[in-house]
Amino acid sequence: MARYTGPVCKLCRREGQKLFLKGDRCYTGKCALENRAFAPGQHGQGRKKSSEYALQLRAKQKTKRFYGMQEKQFSHYFDLAEAKQGMTGENLLIILESRLDNVVYRAGFANSRRQARQFVLHGHFAVNGKKVNIPSYQLKAGDVITVRSKNQALKDLIAANEKQTVTPWLSADHSKYEINVTRMPSREEVDVDVEEHLIVELYSK
Ligand code: SF4
Repeated sequence: MARYTGPVCKLCRREGQKLFLKGDRCYTGKCALENRAFAPGQHGQGRKKSSEYALQLRAKQKTKRFYGMQEKQFSHYFDLAEAKQGMTGENLLIILESRLDNVVYRAGFANSRRQARQFVLHGHFAVNGKKVNIPSYQLKAGDVITVRSKNQALKDLIAANEKQTVTPWLSADHSKYEINVTRMPSREEVDVDVEEHLIVELYSK
């Protein structure tokens, strides 16, 4: 699956919001958005477009970038969300939250989604006892994620993040290297600062 390999801080600057793509650095004064809080490029400090389409596009791009998606994969998730019962926008965010790489990150077993994806790809995790190396793997309530590799750097990182607050729909035991999906998240528990109805409007055109 193709993915964006350019400078990620530019993506935050484009969206005018921290997307937390660089791990620890995002929480320090070195964050590019704190030093240059304007869009990248020659016209970055110029007037921003606020047409209906521009707002919808930015909402989609922001969400896509937050989760590290490419367009094709993101629109596939939108189709899945639309096919489900309930609000399409909320369904979309819950599907994105249920990805294995996101859960590994949310539980504090990686410092960023990008790092979590790398760990998963390298086969460091198992779901319900079976090795899973697919970052997009969809988790459900009751699933148990464990660390199956002996990678010391990963174990040190998990131990170092022991005090990190874990999202309420997960429980993580850092000493046992284990994450439990206790239930699926509600929209209020998904901390993406986006009006998801704008994404639905964009894709419904
Ligand atoms: Fe975004 Fe993190 Fe870079 Fe700040 S340091 S601009 S939050 S990726």
